[in-house]
Amino acid sequence: MVKERARILVVGGGYVGMYTALRLQQKLKQELRRGEAEITVVTPDPYMTYQPFLPEAAAGAISPRHVVVPLRRVLGQCRIVIGEARSIDHAKRTATLTTLATEEEGTGPQQITYDELVLAPGSISRTLPIPGLAEHGIGFRTVEEAIGLRNHVIEQMDIASSTRDPAIRDAALTFVFVGGGFAGVEALAELEDMARYTTRYYHNIKAEDMKWILVEASDRILPEVGEEMGRYTVTELRRRNIDVRLNTRLDSCADRVAVLSDGSRFPTRTLVWTAGVKSHPLLAATDLPLTERGRLKCTPELTVEGVTHAWAAGDAAAVPDVTAEEPGKETAPNAQHAVRQARVLGDNIVHSLRGEPLETYAHKYVGSVASLGLHEGVAHLYGRKLKGYPAWFMHRVYHLSRVPTFNRKARVLAEWTLSGLFKREIVSLGSLEHPRAEFELAAGGKPRTDPKGSS
Ligand SMILES: Cc1cc2nc3c(=O)[nH]c(=O)nc-3n(C[C@H](O)[C@H](O)[C@H](O)COP(=O)(O)OP(=O)(O)OC[C@H]3O[C@@H](n4cnc5c(N)ncnc54)[C@H](O)[C@@H]3O)c2cc1C
Repeated sequence: MVKERARILVVGGGYVGMYTALRLQQKLKQELRRGEAEITVVTPDPYMTYQPFLPEAAAGAISPRHVVVPLRRVLGQCRIVIGEARSIDHAKRTATLTTLATEEEGTGPQQITYDELVLAPGSISRTLPIPGLAEHGIGFRTVEEAIGLRNHVIEQMDIASSTRDPAIRDAALTFVFVGGGFAGVEALAELEDMARYTTRYYHNIKAEDMKWILVEASDRILPEVGEEMGRYTVTELRRRNIDVRLNTRLDSCADRVAVLSDGSRFPTRTLVWTAGVKSHPLLAATDLPLTERGRLKCTPELTVEGVTHAWAAGDAAAVPDVTAEEPGKETAPNAQHAVRQARVLGDNIVHSLRGEPLETYAHKYVGSVASLGLHEGVAHLYGRKLKGYPAWFMHRVYHLSRVPTFNRKARVLAEWTLSGLFKREIVSLGSLEHPRAEFELAAGGKPRTDPKGSS
């Protein structure tokens, strides 16, 4: 029994948002039924994205619908608001939101009051003011980007196959990825694998005609799997003819020419930017304390430091790592911490409502697994280092055990099984991104020019 009626506002429907709301929904079942508690989740999309599956979605091994979890189905006892928190005045316990209807209504953003705040908007891509990046680059954080990129890569192969101009062909078959972390390496490795397979269906494109380039500013890639496995990944990618450039930066991509700090220039229509994340801008629009890097200052109990009734976890929160040997370390921004923090966070809100002592978040990082394409992977998990097929298999088993809901596990497993029996899907459905184009043309509109050339 909670002390008084509690209106809990969860900002963000990602790992932390969804799992916290789920935990609260389970633990406050009676209170929700009696109307003593209310959980509202505000998030821009009606689904949670299981990001570790995005590279496989880009490669066509998993359907886009199966890498996302529908929030309305999972969080049946919560109120889901599809919108964005624009600012938060925690002193007044008020959040300002815009929803899909805000513009049409013309009444401006709405305000929502709460008693407990869970702030989990995650992070956003860290970009740099590089000429041409905003116009020509694409990130790799959302299911839309992953599927858009898949369609784009296959369309570039179609362009290369149908042009007689060698410069157009060369640019279409050059794919540049910037950032050697999880997202960049997995996305590049999966897409290259998919494209290499796809070349067998083109009469005039061979795998050797494509240029896949990975640009990384530091001297190593995949820091998440440790130095030795990172070195192995470089060797493995180079063996596949992927041009891995360490200690190299992207200086410009104006006019669709990627210019690197080592002086090389690559005309390209594909520039994927995965060079790290930064704190979400919403955090600066609150009256809550932030670290120098812009994350919310949190306690090991996942409360926001110095205030009451505000909680945070995941990429947005600087949570002290109580398992670290050196003091002052924060937990890394990854799914492993986000999921576990969400569970403690949910429990702690319930403890706090019931006047019980709070739990401390303590989890020692167990390592990581990364997929590098079909039957290829690298892993450093629970102290064990694996590469090649065993690592790839471990990647699948690990993520199948982690993807939320039995429904999604069953669907992903079915897709993997079917793709083992049949050949890969090599179709590009880029025109899905312009569903009205054909009708506009039939109705007398102008045909779109250069429909497929941009990234
Ligand atoms: C391609 C890729 C692969 C990855 N692979 C791995 C992996 O293998 N292992 C691993 O441990 N980690 C991995 N990660 C990292 C992991 O996904 C993140 O650390 C994790 O998602 C963080 O959880 P979160 O809840 O803090 O943020 P998110 O899961 O990003 O959730 C944030 C939510 O807030 C919503 N939101 C944003 N702005 C607002 C707003 N203004 N108002 C309301 N809601 C808002 C977003 O739409 C989203 O739903 C990967 C990340 C990427 C991009």
